[in-house]
Amino acid sequence: MTEHGQWVSEKWENVVTRYRIKAYLYEEKSEFQHIQLVDTHEYGKMLLLDGIVQTTEKDEFFYHEMMVHVPMLSHSAPKQVLIIGGGDGGVLREVLHYPQVEKAVMVEIDANVVDFSKKYIPSINNGAFEDKRAELVFADGAEYVEKTNGTYDVIIVDSPDPIGPARVLFSNKFYFHLHRRLTPGGIMVRQTGSLQIQADEQKQAYNVLKNIFTHVAFYVYCVPTYIGGLFSSVFCSDNIDPKNIRSDEIQTKVNDMSLETTYYNPGIHIGSFHLPEFLKNRLK
Ligand code: SAM
Repeated sequence: MTEHGQWVSEKWENVVTRYRIKAYLYEEKSEFQHIQLVDTHEYGKMLLLDGIVQTTEKDEFFYHEMMVHVPMLSHSAPKQVLIIGGGDGGVLREVLHYPQVEKAVMVEIDANVVDFSKKYIPSINNGAFEDKRAELVFADGAEYVEKTNGTYDVIIVDSPDPIGPARVLFSNKFYFHLHRRLTPGGIMVRQTGSLQIQADEQKQAYNVLKNIFTHVAFYVYCVPTYIGGLFSSVFCSDNIDPKNIRSDEIQTKVNDMSLETTYYNPGIHIGSFHLPEFLKNRLK
């Protein structure tokens, strides 16, 4: 929401963060959610859904690189990739850096998010939507994974927090069908919120995922505009324990594909699975 025309606020129960804005670019109540796009002094253009920051021009790379390169570089040969959500195109952009990827299916419930992300924050998708390997499906991700017969080497759930249309992307049923959609050796990652502001999300996800996948490992990193300290994702697989992967193996893959990143590197990849004591205790 904007106040006095100068600021946009992100409101949590006990915390409000404000960003001073240069211009209010776009606002719409789509069929699914309240969409706002503003131009901020500190972070450039900023996308908010239902009042929550989704991504910004200036710090999107922290999140998109960690959500993509951790699973993709842990998989031996990711060819078929599924993205649930991801309307701004940042995850799709990073996935398509991999020459071995044959198809990246992105299932996004709200075409409006894609349309104006293309129009107002094209730097985030950076042409990914036009890549011939990209297939955009406008549908509910939960319904898609239940009904499709496709199978995928890597699945990335780039959803908002469990608000509005994204609630179904946190259900047991969704995770059950996600598991069925993975090829042998497949990997699924999803964002599991901030360790402070969304402290319940990690444990809630773990309690469900540990009964579905053999390996369930959280990893933590920084995303400046996802407030509440460290941010988290969870890595799930039946065959790959991410803590057995060596930094030099990853570095060789990075060198072979001349992968260029701004936040991610193999050391950060390995280190991100070493969790703070309070999170380890929270997951017991
Ligand atoms: N990085 C952000 C975060 O961590 O909160 C998420 C960004 S991305 C913009 C989230 C996308 O998920 C939005 O485009 C939204 O429309 C989409 N989405 C929400 N619920 C969905 C559902 N049930 N199926 C598919 N996409 C959904």
